[in-house]
Amino acid sequence: MYDVALGEEDKVLSSKEIWYCFQCFFCTNKCPFKIGIPYIISRLRKMALEQGYGWELTKILSGVGRNLIKSGLSISPQDYARLDPKKAERELAKARLEMGLPEKYQVSDKAREELKVILEETNFKEELENLEERVEESKESSENY
Ligand code: SF4
Repeated sequence: MYDVALGEEDKVLSSKEIWYCFQCFFCTNKCPFKIGIPYIISRLRKMALEQGYGWELTKILSGVGRNLIKSGLSISPQDYARLDPKKAERELAKARLEMGLPEKYQVSDKAREELKVILEETNFKEELENLEERVEESKESSENY
């Protein structure tokens, strides 16, 4: 924020630091003036993208989008259990059974049909391909701030 106030635009926009925010709003809730830091960070991210920075950090979204097209689910246990996806799957199945749910989550045919229409109407696949191209062309963001 200090560098933003000083007008150090390039330093801020080229930094990976603006991508570390989880948008949890904890800071806003704690701030006595309710300053919306996450909104400022969102704006900085948009500016960074406009200048060609940060696209490589959106790569994870590509995987989420591809999953959505393929299975109707944006994430799966395999995505977050890189070390032992089978174990993650077993534990998830166990937890679902304990909650009285079917062992495996299935997206209904009706939901998949609806999703297909939404994805087509919003040009989702083309937008995803555009995003993937931008990732390839991205300027490298700096690690050290
Ligand atoms: S919203 Fe605020 S508290 Fe949450 S990660 Fe971002 S800067 Fe940190």
